[in-house]
Amino acid sequence: MTDRYAVLGNPVEHSLSPLIHSHFAKVTGQDLSYERILVPQGKFEEIAGEFFAQGGLGCNITVPCKIDALNYAKANGDLSENAQTVQAVNTLKHQDGKVYGENTDGGGLCFDLKRLQCPLTGSNLLLIGAGGAARGILRALLQEGALSIAICNRTFEKALELVRMTKDERVTALPFDKLEGRFEVIINASSSSLHKTLPPVADEICKEALFAYDLMYTPQGKTVFTEHFARWGVKACDGLGMLVSQAALSFKLWRDVMPDIEQTLDYLRKDVLK
Ligand code: NDP
Repeated sequence: MTDRYAVLGNPVEHSLSPLIHSHFAKVTGQDLSYERILVPQGKFEEIAGEFFAQGGLGCNITVPCKIDALNYAKANGDLSENAQTVQAVNTLKHQDGKVYGENTDGGGLCFDLKRLQCPLTGSNLLLIGAGGAARGILRALLQEGALSIAICNRTFEKALELVRMTKDERVTALPFDKLEGRFEVIINASSSSLHKTLPPVADEICKEALFAYDLMYTPQGKTVFTEHFARWGVKACDGLGMLVSQAALSFKLWRDVMPDIEQTLDYLRKDVLK
């Protein structure tokens, strides 16, 4: 029987995960199917339970179900240390009647930053946003050796809350208008680009950066955020590489094979997103 995988969330119809994982399976010669499963509000436990009872081997979890997935793994198996710290799960693996919960978002981002030769280790980093994505990547950025991380967010209280949660003296929260000094790396984990707006970071700070990254992605690989930095001559990349890399880390957890990121990015940009 073909091994079954899925993405669970709401909405899921626009998720690229089925295309990405089917491509991974094709190029690595793995026999598996990957489907989209819509989770009605409050039904995560029921839907995930049904999927695993029918032999499902693993799933990715997208908004708004990452906390439900955390609780599901807690009750039905185990959590990685990383998922426990981040308090969100984006990957479930079903094995020996138990479900294991992991979060590959932070690992995926760092994998992509390395691919892009971002000077992360030893840098002062500005992280914009304090939602689920920022929470998911903060620990991995610290583990990769960021010297300091300043968090700015439209709602300042949420940035403060993230700092309190992280309990690491390298992390601080600052209002946008109190930013000063140099940030070699600037990461946008807010939804500003979705609304075609720029976070209010002073031009002097943007100009001085060495590398900028927007978690949002577009078919052309450009967002208002990356375009803004490119104008100053700062290397700036969109988040498609993170999306593919976090998927690849899930695939590796399930199948013990690491797919080729560059080749998958080529496929997505040329054949899918065009
Ligand atoms: P959340 O809804 O959890 O958080 C949204 C964040 O963006 C909050 O910090 C919010 O601020 C801020 N925000 C929302 N609208 C605006 C705006 N108009 N201007 C400035 N800030 C704004 O979303 P996520 O954290 O899950 O996702 C954030 C972004 O990251 C999305 O664009 C998403 O597509 C992308 N993403 C990409 C991934 C990838 O693999 N490439 C993975 C995960 C996310 P406030 O607290 O004030 O509301």
